[in-house]
Amino acid sequence: MTGMQMSGKQAKRNIVVCKFGGSSVADADHVKKVRAILEADSRRSIVVVSAPGRRSKDDDKVTDLLYACNKLVQDGKSCKELFKKISSRYTDILTGLGMKADFLKPVLDEVRRCIDAGHGTDYAASRGEYLSARLVAEYLGWTFLDTADVVVINHDGTVHPATWQKLSESLDPKGKYVIPGFYGATADGVVKTFSRGGSDITGAIMARAVGADLYENWTDVSGVFMADPRLIPEAKVVQTMTYKEVRELAEVGAGVFHEEAIAPVMDAGIPINVKNTNDPSAPGTMIVPSRDCADIPLVGVSSRNGYSSISLHKMMLFKRTGIRHALLTMLHVFGIRPEFSLVGIDSIVWFYDSKQASESVLEAMKTRLKDEFELDSITVSSGYAVVGVVGEGIMGMSDMLSKATSALSRQNISLEFLNYGASDTSCLFGVRSGAKDETVRALYEALA
Ligand code: ASP
Repeated sequence: MTGMQMSGKQAKRNIVVCKFGGSSVADADHVKKVRAILEADSRRSIVVVSAPGRRSKDDDKVTDLLYACNKLVQDGKSCKELFKKISSRYTDILTGLGMKADFLKPVLDEVRRCIDAGHGTDYAASRGEYLSARLVAEYLGWTFLDTADVVVINHDGTVHPATWQKLSESLDPKGKYVIPGFYGATADGVVKTFSRGGSDITGAIMARAVGADLYENWTDVSGVFMADPRLIPEAKVVQTMTYKEVRELAEVGAGVFHEEAIAPVMDAGIPINVKNTNDPSAPGTMIVPSRDCADIPLVGVSSRNGYSSISLHKMMLFKRTGIRHALLTMLHVFGIRPEFSLVGIDSIVWFYDSKQASESVLEAMKTRLKDEFELDSITVSSGYAVVGVVGEGIMGMSDMLSKATSALSRQNISLEFLNYGASDTSCLFGVRSGAKDETVRALYEALA
């Protein structure tokens, strides 16, 4: 086999890596669209697929069904009945494509047996992509390459460098491959998944490994919207944005693209094109290393709910050396990792994800901090949301803050805190959770 030279940066090849998300392989009609897209450009020779997603609002994602099967097994039951739902998802697709279900039947049986035999959560969850890729490879007549053999994942979920060598040995530059997303294996060969939505990461790994011209990320919308269209139906599609802007937007809750999928392509400077399987001629959104921000300073407004604050007060507290470190260490002991903080002369406020600590843990933490540091007061309050305005040009907008704060005050939204200046690409507005959607609307109208 002709190995490709792969590792970090390298000459671009005439290859486009395409990742198709769950909606693009949810049923036979979509898989037919996938084939038409691949046939339209011969550079599209490496395809990464997700597990079949929802076909309608109240449908199940195959990955969710697989997690549920595994849970049954953990509870001492068999997943045989529930697995039938999964099998029928794949056989329906095969029938809809005019293919015989025979070739997949033994594979489905084997997967079900292994889940029932307790092969574990990651194994079970990974089978949605595995089965998808087997099916699509058969349909296209392309080579199936199992990511368990070529993508090595460290225990902390990062990509092991051995991956590049393995891919170099396994991919023929002239070949056409269908590859399952979302999983690989640890160095000792145990199947391991990335976090949810991780097929984006697999696509990025493939793009970097082959030095692709382009990484196309096919989904069911025509690109990245400047705001959630369910909140703002007239929200525009972003034409061009940078890797950094994508990461910042994902951080404040936009379901754009898996944040960890940026690193592999960013290193190699490979552009990403987010495209719509149902409207392939729409240009979608280009994600690139840098852009000219003069005309379009910001790329989006997004929000994340579920923050709490811890405020503590003690006169002269911050005159003590090392005090912030000591306080933070204590928070870490109780499992709290604040995302940002505000500091006053005698006080500090941290904001953290409310899920990190239960009521009882918070009570224990308050008592411990109060006693240990002889605080005057410590209060915890929940129900905050963060609304982020993201764009590499926002720091150059001299009126950005005045426009934003006037828009909020026109809507009677009170600003609880502001995180401005920590990043040159985003400004975070902290509001009460109930005002989150209104804040997104107000900021979008004022700034976008
Ligand atoms: N199927 C996996 C999930 O639902 C991974 C992916 O679709 O990217 O999270």
